[in-house]
This record gives sequence, structure tokens and C-alpha cells, in this order.
Amino acid sequence: MSGHVIPIGDAPLEQERTTLDAAAARMPDYMRAGTLQLQALPPLGLYVHLPWCLRKCPYCDFNSHEWRGEQPQIPERRYVQALIADLETALPFIWGRRVTSIFFGGGTPSLFSPDAVDTLLAQVRARVQLASDAEITLEANPGTFERQRFKGYAQAGVNRLSIGVQSFDDDMLRRLGRVHDAAQARAAIEEARDVLPNFNLDLMFALPGQTIDHVRAEVAKALAFQPSHLSLYQLTIEPQTPFAKRPPARLPDADLAADMQQAVADLVQAAGFDRYEVSAYARSGRACRHNRNYWDFGDYLGIGAGAHSKLSFPHRIIRQTRWRHPERYMQQAVQGAPVESEAEIGRRELPFEFLLNALRLREGFATELYTQRTGLPLSTLRRGLEQSIRLGLVTQTAERIAATPRGWDLLNEVLTLFLPPEQPHKPGPSQSGAIAV
Ligand code: SF4
Repeated sequence: MSGHVIPIGDAPLEQERTTLDAAAARMPDYMRAGTLQLQALPPLGLYVHLPWCLRKCPYCDFNSHEWRGEQPQIPERRYVQALIADLETALPFIWGRRVTSIFFGGGTPSLFSPDAVDTLLAQVRARVQLASDAEITLEANPGTFERQRFKGYAQAGVNRLSIGVQSFDDDMLRRLGRVHDAAQARAAIEEARDVLPNFNLDLMFALPGQTIDHVRAEVAKALAFQPSHLSLYQLTIEPQTPFAKRPPARLPDADLAADMQQAVADLVQAAGFDRYEVSAYARSGRACRHNRNYWDFGDYLGIGAGAHSKLSFPHRIIRQTRWRHPERYMQQAVQGAPVESEAEIGRRELPFEFLLNALRLREGFATELYTQRTGLPLSTLRRGLEQSIRLGLVTQTAERIAATPRGWDLLNEVLTLFLPPEQPHKPGPSQSGAIAV
């Protein structure tokens, strides 16, 4: 975009070089021989975590932080500088690789100005090879931006919006602790539709006191805006959240929630959407490419507070987690040390980690993709496949493996059949971008 660009030139060039040198010096560790044999590296997405929200929703367990600083504004400039320093540190790990998508997730990315997003995208383009047709998504929440903001994002290069509507019912929105009301949700969608017709709406179901008729009415309202994509999530009560301590009254039970899921799926599919993933529905050609890459067990570099990365090398796959708290993250990132923890995904964990993603897709996965992405032979799935096929939960042809409709409904149970023997599982982390598309 042509507007004011946030200056980021405070980081001395010498410091950037030192950071790069330190990261490059570690590369032989990642490239050394190992037990995996990856013939080619998978597609690479870039996830950017923007961690602040106006208020923390009582059901939310994402790494989102209510902005309580002394200043009325979030420390946008400092955070952008930290993100750029973080990216610099990570460059040696992705040398020569093309980035096929960028996802600004949060938190509430729409709290950041178009200038900040423009600066970030310019700095990303200057440092990595970005595909000319890269999908660039930004999550937005109604009630967090003024008019014209979406236009600014589009001018900066964002070509897809994901709007966290959750409900069109003011009473439900209050019960969910959302900062916006239904009128603000409608205004945000109308503005998005004018500027970026490729937009997703997030809706939740199984809300306190909700009926199936109410769910249907909510979905019909969303469809009337003609989004290109819908993400429909069941409200779940996550540990350590205010809802876990004081659950809302009249939550639908599991049977009713399952009926709602089915009603929602029927309605959205009848409107011409493909349910390509458990919670994701898209018009033809409009599946979220960034999240598809997660589910295809592709690679992603995650920068920002608490962001996760999965990065493949010829003989190993590693996961990284950035420092979680924004203040600590900013301090660490500008010192060239944004990563709090890092671990190699063990050979024994890989089959489960792969399926945890790939079985979420309706079409499952091509059998050769398993070896391409994990470096393991298909025989490492044999025990779980035999059991799940016998139970009618998974199908296998010469080319593909996928959950059956029943297996899709019982996905957690299916996955337990692929757990490494006699070892409690610690699932790999997911970013909010993988959930909220
Ligand atoms: S649900 Fe979304 S808007 Fe609410 S606190 Fe979490 S990240 Fe922020």
C-alpha cells in the first residue's frame, strides 16, 4: 500500500548479521544424518501471531492477551520490530524455500493497523521468496477496527479475510463474552464483502441454551452474506479457562451437539459448499490453502509470541515454540533468541502426528504423501490400519487412505489406534490459524 510505512530501521545491521551468523552456525546439526529419508521438502507456509485482544473471551485457550498496557494502543511498532528480528533468526532454516501462504492469526490481528501489516509484508517479501499467487489471510474480529481498515489490508497485499463472527444473536454473543454485537458483525462482513470477496466466517454452535432451529437460523444468516468459506466450530470447554471453572448453564449434551453438527453440515453442503475438513466448508476452489498445508502435514514457520513451527530437513522434522508472553517474546526476539523450546519429532510419533492432521480431511491422503512427508514407509501404519479398517472406521485403496463417515465422527477414537505402543501421547501443538480459518 502507498500510505505511511512504520520505520523499522532501529535494529543495527551488525546485530542482524550476528543473529544470522549464529543461526547459520547451527545448521549442520539439522542437516546431519538421521533415521528419516525425506526425498523432498514439503510446501512451506508462514504463520504470524499477533497476540492481543480487547478482552479475553471466557472459553478461549489460545495465546491471546487482553491489552492492559498503560498506553491506549498496543505496542505495534515494537512488536513489528520483534517479528522482523524473529524472521531474520529463522532464515537459515528456510533458505531457498518458497513460501506459499501467510496467515496472520491471533489474538486479534485486526487490532494492528494496515500500516503495520504493510510494513510486515514488505519486510517478509524482502527476506523470503513469496509465491506470486500466495494466499495471504488476516483474522479480524468485529468491533476492533474502524471503516476502511479492510481496504488498507487489501492494499498491503492481504487477499483473504477470516472474520470471527461466532453468532448473529446479541444474547449469545453476551454469553460468550464477545466484545462485539450482531450489528457490528454484520457491518464487518459487509465491509469485507466489498473489499475482499474471498472471506471466511467463523461461527460456533452448541452454545448455552441453543436449539437446532437456532443453529440453522444462524447458519442461514451466514450463508446470506455469500462467504467463500465457513468454519463451524462446536463450543468446547477447555481446561484452565473461566468456562471450565464456571461452565455456562444449559450447554447442549453430546447427542444434541452431534445433531447440530449434522444439521449444520446438511445446510451448508446444500448451499454448494464442500465440507473438506471436519469444521471447514468451502466453495469450489476456495479451501484455505494455508490450513490445507497443515492438514497435509506441510511445513510452517511460525513467528510471533507463542507461535509454533514445524520444519523438515532431509533426515529429521523439528518443532519449535516461541516465547509465549508478548513482552518476553519481544525482548527475546530482538536479541536473536525467539525460540523457547525445540524438539525433533521422534520416528515413533510421526505416524500419529501425520494422521492427526491428514485424517481431518474428508478425502484423507494419497498413500505416497505419507512417505513424502514423514520419510517413513507405509508399513509403519500397518497395525493401526488393519484395526481401523476392520472396525469400518478407515478405508484404504491403492491410492488413498481416508476416514469413513463413521470414522470421521469418531476421529479421536480412530487416532488412538495409531498411538505409538505403550507410550502416552503428547500431541503436537496447533496454532489458532489451524483452527480458525
Ligand atoms: S476467542 Fe478470539 S477474540 Fe476471544 S480472546 Fe480468544 S483470540 Fe481473542
